[in-house]
Amino acid sequence: MEHDGELRAMGAEALDVLIAALVARGYDVIGPTVRDGAIDLHKIHGMGDLPIGVTDEQEAGRYRLAPRADGAVFGFSNGPSSWKRHLHPPQTRLWHADLSGDRPVYVSDVEAPARPMAFLGVRGCDLAAIAILDTVLAADEHYQARRQNVAVVAINCGQAGATCFCASMGTGPAARSGFDLALTELVGDTKHEFLIETATPLGTSLLAELPTRTATDEDLARAAAILETTRTQMGRTLETAGLKEDIAAAAESPHWQEVAARCLTCGNCTMVCPTCFCTEMEDTSDLTGAHAERWRHWESCFTLDFSYAMGGSVRHSPASRYRQWLTHKLSTWEDQFGTSGCVGCGRCIAWCPVGIDITAEAKALQAEARP
Ligand code: SF4
Ligand code: SF4
Repeated sequence: MEHDGELRAMGAEALDVLIAALVARGYDVIGPTVRDGAIDLHKIHGMGDLPIGVTDEQEAGRYRLAPRADGAVFGFSNGPSSWKRHLHPPQTRLWHADLSGDRPVYVSDVEAPARPMAFLGVRGCDLAAIAILDTVLAADEHYQARRQNVAVVAINCGQAGATCFCASMGTGPAARSGFDLALTELVGDTKHEFLIETATPLGTSLLAELPTRTATDEDLARAAAILETTRTQMGRTLETAGLKEDIAAAAESPHWQEVAARCLTCGNCTMVCPTCFCTEMEDTSDLTGAHAERWRHWESCFTLDFSYAMGGSVRHSPASRYRQWLTHKLSTWEDQFGTSGCVGCGRCIAWCPVGIDITAEAKALQAEARP
């Protein structure tokens, strides 16, 4: 296991001390919780809010929670929500205006959360997704107001789902960068501990408050073995060599029609994707006309209205909309932002109601390009 920062180990129960230390520093701690039959990211107050002893079963178009006997705290893979929800919320009021006499007075609604956020349990794929959003939304003052001062406690992934392929995308299962502390959960028959790595001064100061011991070579070997098992557990793979070019060359492929025959253009894949960032604007006013607001909402390239321009939609067919999404994710995103737009989290596969699988569709297009 590669590491640059200080390494210590602590009992699993000390997670409560970590959460309390973050709260004492003024953070709202956001972490995984069980909500509405799924693992979702919400404000937590202590270890008891975490999905202890819960796992998930995922496949294309399928997601179920199930108990697990070992009491693992992070023994599941990604749920439907990503950290995008907290950094780039589904709805944001951009500004409001009130009439003063006969002139409107505009007030910007850029504001940081009342308390800075601490993200607990961020996986490698989602760290990569946050880094992508940092690039894409670098000039977005609403995003930056929420993003600044976020503390990140990462988790080295100890369980890959059947829809995961972060190893193919080079984003996981280990947390690589973008965190203050990184945890590896070591669940055994007699001991339940976390290996902790620090990466920033904040991480080091938090570590100083935790009841830890020196990490042993055995701890490091166990952590490395867990990551290796996770890497080989992944249910999906994607060959990324030449992928950008293959997808770009597939613009006229008949395969898009095959996908479109199944695709409902519901946009679920874009809502759950941790890197999809598209939005639309909505202006509202009250009945008196004295108060107006501008809101920004998540939008999807799968809706007909999204490409409406000059009296009609540019992408009027489902095939053209699926092609736009997959081509942007796996090809043109690189031209635009310098990385793939996909981090291999697998959410779009699990949460597609008809089980359309981005890895299978990409493979079909690759096979056409390289028969
Ligand atoms: S690929 Fe699946 S999730 Fe995405 S729009 Fe089509 S049916 Fe909906
Ligand atoms: S395209 Fe699918 S697998 Fe890739 S990052 Fe988005 S949701 Fe995850």
